[in-house]
Amino acid sequence: MSSDSQLRLEPLPVPRTFDLEVVSVEDWTATLRRIVLRAPELRDLDYRVGQDLMLKLDSGRGLVNRRYTIRRVDLPRGEVEIDVVRHGSGPGARWADATRPGERLLDVVAPRGKITVDPGAAWHLFIGDETAIPAMFHMAESLPDPRTVRVLLEVGDALDAPPPPPGLAGTVHFVNRSGGPPGADGPLLAAAADADLPASRGRAYIAGEARTVLAVRDLLQRRGLTRDQMAVKAYWRRDQPNLDRGEPDPAE
Ligand SMILES: Cc1cc2nc3c(=O)[nH]c(=O)nc-3n(C[C@H](O)[C@H](O)[C@H](O)COP(=O)(O)OP(=O)(O)OC[C@H]3O[C@@H](n4cnc5c(N)ncnc54)[C@H](O)[C@@H]3O)c2cc1C
Repeated sequence: MSSDSQLRLEPLPVPRTFDLEVVSVEDWTATLRRIVLRAPELRDLDYRVGQDLMLKLDSGRGLVNRRYTIRRVDLPRGEVEIDVVRHGSGPGARWADATRPGERLLDVVAPRGKITVDPGAAWHLFIGDETAIPAMFHMAESLPDPRTVRVLLEVGDALDAPPPPPGLAGTVHFVNRSGGPPGADGPLLAAAADADLPASRGRAYIAGEARTVLAVRDLLQRRGLTRDQMAVKAYWRRDQPNLDRGEPDPAE
């Protein structure tokens, strides 16, 4: 299965390796933990909105990679912010629960990822679950014409819905799964089925649970979007840990 459809407008920045320090840890919503990381070398970080950091974290059996989207960067301070879903188990979720200011993270790779915004698209539809909120908000707020931007995000309940960024004047709609399990495709599929798809050539960005993103892609394709109008990325797979390289197993 290829869940990665890419848009390349210009060469992407070359990934570099950083040793980072945790500067602050704050609960942004009931499930999203905002973590700010710092290193002097981040002052000249080059990245595209939608790209991510790859952290090396202890799994109890050695180090594994886990990827988190760059939500915001403060270049003068050498800081980068990530928002991590506290879903319970796994090296990434355990790290987010336990980390405190002062922790050092070695050999962090940034920027990773190939999906970024297509500034030439007539409209932009961003679709994802909680794990995709950082990517969708950052990409959406980077666009100059908010009238062309729609964001559809699945959250567990109302307490999990973060305030949309002030710079994002497009439409943000939260799909509430009302306590249902994350990664079941129903709520997001229903929202995608209702989403307005103007006839002009737009672009859809889809990220989140592996089976869900493919189901949403197939639905939008049935509704008339072509594959090259969609940037699709599997971030995690329900009931299965990501591979040590930080992505869900594509073999399923
Ligand atoms: C390019 C990229 C960017 C990403 N950006 C972000 C981001 O900004 N913020 C973010 O929070 N995540 C993001 N993710 C997703 C995150 O890397 C995965 O959720 C990852 O599985 C977390 O690792 P873990 O060690 O916590 O759990 P794993 O060891 O991978 O999995 C352990 C168990 O937890 C389950 N699980 C994993 N993730 C979730 C979840 N979100 N909800 C419920 N159950 C889950 C698995 O199905 C498995 O049963 C991104 C992934 C990619 C590939």
